[in-house]
Amino acid sequence: MRLKFYGTRGSIPICDASFQQFGGNTTCLQITFPDTNRIAIIDAGTGLRNLGRDLRAIGHKQEQVIILFTHFHWDHIQGFPFFAQAYDPRQKITLLAIRRHQTVSNLREIFEVQMQSEYFPVQLDRMGANFEFLQIADASEHFTGINNVETVVTAQRHNHPGGAYSFRIERNGKVLVVCTDVEHGEQIDPQLVELARGADLLVHDAQYTAEELQKRRGWGHSSFDQGMQLAEMAGVKRLALTHHDPEHDDEFLECIENLCRERFSDAVLAREGMEIPI
Ligand SMILES: [Zn+2]
Ligand SMILES: [Zn+2]
Repeated sequence: MRLKFYGTRGSIPICDASFQQFGGNTTCLQITFPDTNRIAIIDAGTGLRNLGRDLRAIGHKQEQVIILFTHFHWDHIQGFPFFAQAYDPRQKITLLAIRRHQTVSNLREIFEVQMQSEYFPVQLDRMGANFEFLQIADASEHFTGINNVETVVTAQRHNHPGGAYSFRIERNGKVLVVCTDVEHGEQIDPQLVELARGADLLVHDAQYTAEELQKRRGWGHSSFDQGMQLAEMAGVKRLALTHHDPEHDDEFLECIENLCRERFSDAVLAREGMEIPI
């Protein structure tokens, strides 16, 4: 697998000059399965626009594109109306949400409302692509289906306002874990430690410093230290911290990255456009 960050910013996109190194687009991850030349997407933050444009530029075609959602806060869906492939009548797009504890009542409605005429000029049913909205308990068969190699996707619900899911994706003996928009309680969530156990790459929320986190209890995010703590507890090989706060500019994040590496040498702060082979 290969992971590419198309959006690393949390909460709201930002375009100031001092934020360009780590990137201003909100959460969107592309997973490439190089042996079959297929991709899957996690979350549709504003980074999805560039993802779609890049696929066009290289002439990438695949009959069915899957977008798996951690949850549906704005910063994870705002790129959807600007995803070029969603306007292609030959394109099938499957939007996947985990259905447990009723996180969302009607998946299609979330996107219909987002694109109703008061908010957006083109409505969902006029976009053109062949959409499939699925709320499922297990995403494995869909990931296996698009890339023809058994792929096991384990989802774990975690603490976030409104609820959100972390994912563990296992394929050909490699493990990617994506764990964002998570607020641990007094201790690191033990279920997430199990989920991340032995991962080759853990992508973790790191919106705040430890000091900021104290003032942002209940906002649904983690500190850099908590990301590293989980990585250590789960014995993960590499750690990529993401969902950067819109107040954290490049200089600040570089400084944090250096501090993180003193504790966890294989830690990196995710940058827009960064690709990590797994
Ligand atoms: Zn978010
Ligand atoms: Zn959120």
